[in-house]
Amino acid sequence: MVAGEEGLTVGLFGGTFDPVHQGHLDLALHVFDRCRLDRLLLIPALVPPHKRQPVAAFADRAAMIEAALAACSVGRERMRCSRLEADLPPPSYTIHTVKALAAARPADRHLLIIGADSLLDLPHWHRIDDLLDLVSLIVVRRAAIEPAVIDRALAALAPGFTFDPSRNQWLGRGGQTADYFDDIELPVSSSAIREDLAAGRVPAMLPPPVFAYIRDHRLYGWREAS
Ligand code: ATP
Repeated sequence: MVAGEEGLTVGLFGGTFDPVHQGHLDLALHVFDRCRLDRLLLIPALVPPHKRQPVAAFADRAAMIEAALAACSVGRERMRCSRLEADLPPPSYTIHTVKALAAARPADRHLLIIGADSLLDLPHWHRIDDLLDLVSLIVVRRAAIEPAVIDRALAALAPGFTFDPSRNQWLGRGGQTADYFDDIELPVSSSAIREDLAAGRVPAMLPPPVFAYIRDHRLYGWREAS
């Protein structure tokens, strides 16, 4: 970072992205606009610590994100794929990723973007207390997870968040915030997409450049004649 350079507000959207789907992209675009982000990074995990291991290789998952973003209206510099986790020791703990990003650009503010399913899993994340000291949270509605469950999960985090009705926002102890966006719902998952592909169906929520990549590289059991 150049001395005197102003800090940016950067959205961090990590995941397996196996493959990236339209839900991921719509969510990223929505948060980008709504939070007035300067940048948003989609960060594929090399070795996800919290779920089954990916079907596709890291290089393919990253290439599919890049292909999808190339077709997006937001400029390349502002929303891009970060391959950072390929250079960090496995498993890909978010605390290590955020620390590496903060070390490179200490003035930046980081917002961690997660689906509601990931919020419920957050207490199990490696060094979650340290992570919550470094980021603010953006939680997006997913499936049938009720708002009351989200409230309880945010309040139970340590260090905890307290809801401030005047700001309609959760506040952490060190100036961090947590927002819950329940007005967008994107009923799609990578697992459903992989199932469709293996069964020879072209998935509805798969961006065309990603489908082209899968077809060309014969990923997820896709066969041309199927
Ligand atoms: P899988 O079906 O293989 O578990 P996934 O669709 O959940 O995959 P991930 O790459 O694991 O995709 O998700 C990365 C992040 O994106 C997670 O925080 C997850 O909660 C969030 N996410 C993924 N799909 C959606 C969606 N449709 N709506 C809201 N959040 C989502």
